[in-house]
Amino acid sequence: MKKFFLGFGLGVVVLAIVMLARAHWLFPDTQIDVVQLTPNLNVDQSDAIARFAKSIQFQTISYDDPKKLDNEAFTGIRAHIQQSFPLIHQFAKHQVFNQHSLLYEFTGSDSSLKPALFMGHLDVVPVDEVTQDQWQQPPFSGAVVDDIVWGRGTIDDKVTVFALLESMEAMLKEGVQLKRTVYFAFGHDEEIGGKQGAKKIAEHFKQQGIQFEFVLDEGGAITEGIVKGVEHPVAMIGIAEKGFVNIQLTVNSDGGHSSQPPNQTALGILSQAIVNLENNQFETDFSYSQKTFKKIGYYAPLSARIPLANMWLLEPVVKNVMLSSPTTAASIRSTIAATMASGSSKSNILPTQASAVVNIRIFPGESVASVKQHVINAIDDPRVEVDTFMENEPSAVSPTDSLGFNLIEKHIRQLDNEVLVAPYLVVGGTDSKHFYGLSDNIYRFMMVRLDQQGLKRFHGVNEQLPVKDYMNAIAFFHGLLMETAAQ
Ligand SMILES: [Zn+2]
Repeated sequence: MKKFFLGFGLGVVVLAIVMLARAHWLFPDTQIDVVQLTPNLNVDQSDAIARFAKSIQFQTISYDDPKKLDNEAFTGIRAHIQQSFPLIHQFAKHQVFNQHSLLYEFTGSDSSLKPALFMGHLDVVPVDEVTQDQWQQPPFSGAVVDDIVWGRGTIDDKVTVFALLESMEAMLKEGVQLKRTVYFAFGHDEEIGGKQGAKKIAEHFKQQGIQFEFVLDEGGAITEGIVKGVEHPVAMIGIAEKGFVNIQLTVNSDGGHSSQPPNQTALGILSQAIVNLENNQFETDFSYSQKTFKKIGYYAPLSARIPLANMWLLEPVVKNVMLSSPTTAASIRSTIAATMASGSSKSNILPTQASAVVNIRIFPGESVASVKQHVINAIDDPRVEVDTFMENEPSAVSPTDSLGFNLIEKHIRQLDNEVLVAPYLVVGGTDSKHFYGLSDNIYRFMMVRLDQQGLKRFHGVNEQLPVKDYMNAIAFFHGLLMETAAQ
């Protein structure tokens, strides 16, 4: 017996040593080494802020009902852009799609280099009526108070559009000659799927057979205090994006009076189907969280490194922890969200039809077809019809050793080398989904800093951007565009 305990104790010690060793060795510092530079920008700060603040005043709202689109707001912002950036409008080839989406081509001298595409969107989400009076400054005021620019669109996504334009205007003023062709594409309906804007622009490129060296769209940001245990800010660059499908579930049955019902009404059958589906969640996949962690693990505390370095043993523990929060759960599997339902129109009439919509965000590696099959198998009831609508396949995965990724990474750290850079999976959707096939290197990142508070303001109340962050975004794009165009 004593021998057994001795052996057991020795086993535990060896195991602990192995786990510790792996936690140390598996996470070397992989952040690129750069010297921090102070940007020398040829941009007048107060003029740039005035132009940005004015852009917020155009209520370029995307509504689900396209008839509500405010044409004047969109023509207004276009005129504002035209006035604000004269050199761009002199130098660039300029096209308008569906009245309001804008495409600029800055032609480079070397046509053997694949062009690069920078994307953004002009539209914003509406301001929820009930939250109107919670705004400290009116949401479309573009007020600049205490070095903060206020309003809907300051983060999502007018910062990208205007910082890109400012940096290119400055480059042209400096007389920079482009070798590589650079495009700017600004959609006007990203918030409702981008079908009239980015999609049309993408079709235009497809017709011409253009392939991009890389594409940069909105997506991740510099997060502060969001990656648990990591004290450095972390710039999250989206290298892949989840797909999307709505599943329509329908059950038909005989109607009749509710005083003589069958054991299960159409609504009962439907409810059981949803319960079955929720009880059959999708498989987990840690490949993206591991990619993220590999880049920043060196800077994480040992308590996080030990489990992640020892997934061979601790995967069930890690899985439980990640599934316990909807945010981390979404990053390791396809998600299921039952969102809409309907039955009978009157309380004493049996429904002849009950229907529900389940919104599923599809993990790369799965597909619309495989997700639909999963739903059918989970429900396992032929009385429930399963159809799909509004679907987008998940993206391919972009590499982290391409020219595009390297340049984005370098220019983030050149501005602030405290910031760590890591790839990740985008769980929402961006306009870049229309550009699959046009480049192997599609990245999703916006140059803003977001802490927990900032994340809530995204699409929420009191959206705002510090003046410092806006100028930083201009500096970032200026450096990135210069180097992209030069090689
Ligand atoms: Zn956006």
